[in-house]
Amino acid sequence: MAQGRAGGIQVFPRKGIILNRWGHAYVNPQPGFFFGVNGKPAPRDILRNRPHGRIAFANTDLAGASDHRNSIREADRAVKQLL
Ligand SMILES: Cc1cc2nc3c(=O)[nH]c(=O)nc-3n(C[C@H](O)[C@H](O)[C@H](O)COP(=O)(O)OP(=O)(O)OC[C@H]3O[C@@H](n4cnc5c(N)ncnc54)[C@H](O)[C@@H]3O)c2cc1C
Repeated sequence: MAQGRAGGIQVFPRKGIILNRWGHAYVNPQPGFFFGVNGKPAPRDILRNRPHGRIAFANTDLAGASDHRNSIREADRAVKQLL
């Protein structure tokens, strides 16, 4: 890319972008996300317990432990909820 301006931002030529990603990056939920507070259902249970229309949520963040086993379990559950 030639040096120039884009939307008022100075743009410099780049040779590459390095993107690092954490493996097993654990969710940093707010209090109550996993177990609920004041007798209210936990947000993750609201997302997981049933589909929302034709959408079912599947993500290891909802399981609480970020690994491939939970990604498979979450996907299996979500797909079955939609069948
Ligand atoms: C470097 C690294 C090493 C790892 N090593 C291991 C290991 O050895 N063993 C192990 O068990 N686990 C390992 N993990 C963890 C494991 O890969 C993850 O926990 C798992 O892949 C999470 O699955 P997920 O389905 O929750 O999310 P993801 O795999 O992140 O899937 C989310 C998907 O949603 C897509 N997406 C995001 N936003 C949108 C959007 N707006 N529209 C459409 N699609 C979207 C993304 O492109 C992605 O395909 C590793 C992770 C990393 C990063």
